[in-house]
Amino acid sequence: MPSGLSSILEKKDHDRSDILAMLQCSEEEAPLLYRKAAAVRDRYVGNHVYLRGLIEYSNICGKNCLYCGVRRDNSRIQKYTLTNDEVIEAAMTAHKLNFGSIAIQSGENSSKVFVDNIEELVRAIRKLTGGELGITLSLGEQTRETYRRWYEAGAHRYLLRIEASSESLYRRVHPEDEMHSFYHRLDCLRVIQETGYQTGTGVMVGLPYQTMTHLADDIIFMRDFDIDMCGMGPFIEHSDTPLGVRGTDNLFLRERFNLTLRMIAIIRIIMKDINIVASTAMQTIDPAGREKAISCGANVVMPNLTPARYRAGYLIYEGKPGYREVNETNISGLNFEHMPGMTLGRGTWGDTPHYRRRLSKE
Ligand code: SAH
Ligand code: SF4
Repeated sequence: MPSGLSSILEKKDHDRSDILAMLQCSEEEAPLLYRKAAAVRDRYVGNHVYLRGLIEYSNICGKNCLYCGVRRDNSRIQKYTLTNDEVIEAAMTAHKLNFGSIAIQSGENSSKVFVDNIEELVRAIRKLTGGELGITLSLGEQTRETYRRWYEAGAHRYLLRIEASSESLYRRVHPEDEMHSFYHRLDCLRVIQETGYQTGTGVMVGLPYQTMTHLADDIIFMRDFDIDMCGMGPFIEHSDTPLGVRGTDNLFLRERFNLTLRMIAIIRIIMKDINIVASTAMQTIDPAGREKAISCGANVVMPNLTPARYRAGYLIYEGKPGYREVNETNISGLNFEHMPGMTLGRGTWGDTPHYRRRLSKE
């Protein structure tokens, strides 16, 4: 007699109650979920881990998200913006080491200088690498025109986490003002997709006030939006933020970690051929966190290429590994012994089949 979980895993389509059952399966059953997700990953996108060399461009942010250490009102961090030479040097390191792709991430800034400069950097990196290095951007909410300019300059993937797909939960973890509108963020995600980017989104797992139903609905949101890439990670308190000092009835970090593994496995099982990040936040909670996420269906990691002296300034959450330099003999920093059967995808953009499939449907 198959268990409740195994009969759900055999289904072709999953509804909200199936997703809730997968999220809440017992610890004894969870390995079944994880193995299924890893098998789906191998079948639909292969057994490769792709790299996005992460360049944290600036910690100057106009927003004030209640969870984030880089928020505008955190005056305890030293503000920085990399010089163009520093960005290009990091990108060339990625190219030299055969990363295949980089990801440029930053606090949110829509000034003309910022927008022009990113456009110039994207163009320069494409030119200097003969178009070989893929470029992902994660630079927050921008205008349609800005997204278009950066796309035309040569960026082809954009990651904008919705953070929480429930409007009411979103409002509880952001200030109540025009700068933090759920619907504006949602519109931006649509514009990113319409512009032509491979579009990524995701949520934080274990936010205060978040319920299992919220998480199940996050999965449904990502499926219905038909995203190409997913980046999810556990919420981790930062003591210089309003949500960092709360803490009384928050889930334990280990519970958030385990729930994130389940979220990764479920989105893999449901969306099959998308790219899914094993986030650095997972590694912050568990040294083998990224390897565990990969064993549950993830296939992308983002090794940090930000020059070491700026790292302390980009502490979005506490405990984020700030010291680890990319090591030429192990550029991913992953321990492949923990992930039998996986190989490193080098020198390729590592695009999702999902993106091409989505375009062919349009
Ligand atoms: N400013 C851009 C990109 C940088 S922030 C943006 O917000 O889109 C990148 C991600 O860090 C955010 O999307 C958020 O999901 C995550 N993050 C912020 N604070 C966090 C925290 N305390 N714990 C875990 N993840 C956090
Ligand atoms: Fe700024 Fe992004 Fe942090 Fe929000 S999550 S405060 S937009 S860096």
